[in-house]
Amino acid sequence: MVEHFNPVNNKNENNNKNQSVKCVHCKSTNYSKQGFRKTKNRGKIQKYFCNNCNRYFTADFGFYRMRNSNKLITMSVDMYLSNLSSRKMRNQLLRHFNHRISHVSVLDWVRKYVLKVHKFVDRLNPQLNGRIYADETDIPRGTNTKKKGGDIFWCAVDWDTRFINATYYSPKTQSIKDATEFMKRIKSRVLPKYIQTDAGAFYPKAFMKVFNPRRKKFSNLKIQHIVNNVGKTRKHNVRIETVFSKIKDRVDDFRGLKALWSAPILLAGIVLQHNFIESHTTTGQLPCELAGLNLETGINRWLGLIRLSSCGLI
Ligand SMILES: [Zn+2]
Repeated sequence: MVEHFNPVNNKNENNNKNQSVKCVHCKSTNYSKQGFRKTKNRGKIQKYFCNNCNRYFTADFGFYRMRNSNKLITMSVDMYLSNLSSRKMRNQLLRHFNHRISHVSVLDWVRKYVLKVHKFVDRLNPQLNGRIYADETDIPRGTNTKKKGGDIFWCAVDWDTRFINATYYSPKTQSIKDATEFMKRIKSRVLPKYIQTDAGAFYPKAFMKVFNPRRKKFSNLKIQHIVNNVGKTRKHNVRIETVFSKIKDRVDDFRGLKALWSAPILLAGIVLQHNFIESHTTTGQLPCELAGLNLETGINRWLGLIRLSSCGLI
């Protein structure tokens, strides 16, 4: 029996021993067990009757009414965000598990679970060191994937943890206004020791607006803005460039993000993948661990994160 290796028919997925069940409608814990719902791909799912709101529910921990198994869904999300296109993912499932899904389902799952997990991790409090490297990159959107000067993705990394601590997605070209919003987002997570940027003309003014050393609360902190003018110094910060180029590579693989509403969600997914799912190649650790966030996700990190997000445990 290799049943537990099969992500398509996952009969063991409802072993939620350590999870506290709540009514999905009213969050009450006053309920009774009422038999099972039989599903094609997910085995038997425990049904409950809520004595508070008199409705039935199942405790799916993030997979309520999903037709595919949670392993198949999390595998698809994980593989999509780590570099496999939705069409290739669909083809793999057909070839290896004889399981038919639409590639749109993969995209739907990615968007649904990225939003859910993003909302959860946004409330966490990573311990950052404050040596911040910030950068911005062009995001081609629509059919013309080679087009430059399209949307801009702003991204800041905490050097010691490699934790991406602030992002900003803007459909407009770089400006002082957007750079200021980005700096504000950096500040909301950590008071930096310094922020290093490239020689973009909008950075110094934005930095002054947000971290003006003449303001009382910043006067003793000596927060620095370091400009690395690569054109002049020819010095790239290789280790931090690795983080940014990983993100840029993944964006290129999207072959142009189709819609403005979904582009930021997919980028948020790449950031989640970086911070919480894939160990950093040089540190061998997850940025979230280095930032002191020890989440009990188990080996299937996406599944663990989705469950944590669904229970509201923190
Ligand atoms: Zn209820």
